[in-house]
Amino acid sequence: MKLYDSLTRDIRDFKPIEEGKVRMYTCGPTVYSFVTIGNWRTYTLGDLINRTLVYLGYDINYVMNITDVGHLTGDNLGDADTGEDRLEKAAKKERKTAWDIAEFYTEDFLTGFNKMNLIKPKVFSKATEHIDEQINLVKEIEEKGFAYKIADGIYFDTQAYEVAGNKYGELSNLDQIKEGARVEINEEKKDPRDFALWKFSPIDEQRDMEWESPWGKGFPGWHIECSAMSMKYLGDQLDIHVGGEDLRSTHHPNEIAQSEAATGAKPFTNYWMHGAFLTVNGGRMGKSLGNAYTVTDIENEGYNLMALRYFYLGGHYRKQLNFTWEALEAAQNAYKKIVSSLRGWVKELNSNELFRINTDYKIKFTEALNDDLNMPQALAVLWEVAKDQSLDAETKVSTILDFDRVLGLKLEESISQPEEYSLEVQSLIEERNQARADKNWSRADEIRDILKNDFDVELKDKA
Ligand code: AMP
Ligand code: ZN
Repeated sequence: MKLYDSLTRDIRDFKPIEEGKVRMYTCGPTVYSFVTIGNWRTYTLGDLINRTLVYLGYDINYVMNITDVGHLTGDNLGDADTGEDRLEKAAKKERKTAWDIAEFYTEDFLTGFNKMNLIKPKVFSKATEHIDEQINLVKEIEEKGFAYKIADGIYFDTQAYEVAGNKYGELSNLDQIKEGARVEINEEKKDPRDFALWKFSPIDEQRDMEWESPWGKGFPGWHIECSAMSMKYLGDQLDIHVGGEDLRSTHHPNEIAQSEAATGAKPFTNYWMHGAFLTVNGGRMGKSLGNAYTVTDIENEGYNLMALRYFYLGGHYRKQLNFTWEALEAAQNAYKKIVSSLRGWVKELNSNELFRINTDYKIKFTEALNDDLNMPQALAVLWEVAKDQSLDAETKVSTILDFDRVLGLKLEESISQPEEYSLEVQSLIEERNQARADKNWSRADEIRDILKNDFDVELKDKA
């Protein structure tokens, strides 16, 4: 498989550190508000890489973090060490504690994760559950001479790092990393590029989230969690690290600097994979612009989330993708078409033995994946199978369901759902199936009643 690495800026054959095994990390959500369909594009990219590697036979150790402390608002303006903690800010606004905010939006994220049919990583790691690991890592960086203390915290010393023969900021797509985009210069910092490893709690304010440390009471800087948690679960070096394109400017260069300063193991990550942004009507997606849609917005407009997933698959991950309702409608029509074709072929089956995967098409499909995850091409192969009149129903169904192990469009499930059900009913049935899988019997019964009373749909469960 060939993958583009945004650090070396080239496409290379993928070779994992350990043969047959992959250590992969995705930077997850900051849980202070609802996850948007832009964020979901990036998490779906992580899922597609994960599914592709499993399809190709690798054994994956996949970790994703949940940022529930330390991500400051200044990050929007190019300086992640200034401004308010996003969670503490949301807590004040919603009159809750930062802990409540974290719990509420983490739950929302996990629900969305399931609805988008993303395979759960082996570990979801929360920053607040790894404070000791982060403190220990900062200690290590300090002992090696790459950290110093100023009034508001402990900072990473980029100059000392460079004097020791390292390069700082190579991954960044900013010409002068951090400079120029700064709101305020912290005069105490030795170099404007230096960044916080540990921040002290403000003297005049009580934070909801704070911890004792060897330097004083406070909380971790935003970047340190990813270095500490990836090291804990995946070791000093990673094969693949995933995130949205914005993280390439400072967050990821800072992760590299911290990790390599502490361990000396280089490179920290072999393949940096950055997903390009989802735009809306050709522009930025923003809460203030009213176009930062969530999965609930998509469902409320009557769309199936697998249509959203299909829409993502239509664009290459390194190119920005523009969301419009018309484009989603087109994706939904294509999705419905493949589902109804599958239903037709299933009716024609002479046997239930779905092992007749067409190898020529499987090779073509795999070639598309191997070409730096060319999902639009992979989808094109699916349509070739659908349209190939020389294939029998068994082969079509087997081959397409095999592809769906990567595409993740829930095709098998969709075939068995009666066609006449509205999307609302379908999504209730899906939610009920999940509730049953989670042994949440009361919710399952509740949904059964809603379906019966409001939609006149009676479900019969298999024994
Ligand atoms: P955040 O919750 O802001 O830390 O972002 C979570 C993830 O979503 C990061 O990997 C971001 O790079 C990514 N992200 C944010 N906005 C978009 C967008 N419009 N399109 C794609 N990914 C995004
Ligand atoms: Zn990260």
